Amino acid sequence: MNSLTTGRVDLVGGGPGPIDLMTLRAWRLLLRADVVVMDRLGPTDVRDHLAPEVEVIDVGKLPGHHPVPQDEINAILVDRARAGKRVVRLKGGDPFVFGRGGEEVTACVTAGIPVDVVPGVTSAVAVPEAAGIPVTHRAVASAVHIVNGQSEMTGATLAALGDDSVTTVILMGVGALPRLAADALHAGVGADRPVAIVERGHHADQRTTRTTLGAVVLEAGRIGVRNPAVIVVGEVARAGMLVPDLLAARSGSGGASL
Ligand code: SAH
Repeated sequence: MNSLTTGRVDLVGGGPGPIDLMTLRAWRLLLRADVVVMDRLGPTDVRDHLAPEVEVIDVGKLPGHHPVPQDEINAILVDRARAGKRVVRLKGGDPFVFGRGGEEVTACVTAGIPVDVVPGVTSAVAVPEAAGIPVTHRAVASAVHIVNGQSEMTGATLAALGDDSVTTVILMGVGALPRLAADALHAGVGADRPVAIVERGHHADQRTTRTTLGAVVLEAGRIGVRNPAVIVVGEVARAGMLVPDLLAARSGSGGASL
């Protein structure tokens, strides 16, 4: 590539994992990229489809397994684009859903680098979906509240958890589950509120666990719930909500079984 040409950065949503859940726009940009900056989550298999001369930078972990700090990621994007490269910043899910995409856009704009954002299939919707859970459902759930489980729960989140007509979707919530459940119960949310935990959604080893707010911590500990997982709280998470339990049992235990 001509070094006098200005490079650019595209923040590309990669979806929850499988390559065929990426958009065509994402795929086209990847195939034209000079540099691909990747995360731990998302469609990591794309590496196998990139030309050997493409520089792949994994910012999901360093040799010591520490993630690269955000300001260093920003600097990598800006530096490569300044060198005239077409940079794809590939992210799991959607870049603007707990993806720090906004910060990367700001860094590029501030540095005068052309930048664009390509939407992705967010795990907040697609991972429950993989377990047959619709985040909204007519006459059952008319609103969705998406939260970062690592943050303290706000009044809005507690209100969502306590409202039968709202689905609460918790990302990054596995480690904080005991605190989240305790705070919700303490705030008066019913112990019988349905909860589903969907681990590794859209992967072959996907696992769905149905429980209740009162039992979730014990159950998660018993089965050893691990990241990445999406936690769904609300009526839509109730087993057999879409189909009777009998049918669900017959549909087997495959990736998208209900
Ligand atoms: N931008 C991403 C979210 C990044 S936060 C998106 O839109 O999907 C990372 C969190 O996403 C994880 O902690 C987990 O809660 C969720 N996640 C991402 N991929 C997942 C998957 N395949 N299965 C389960 N959870 C996933």
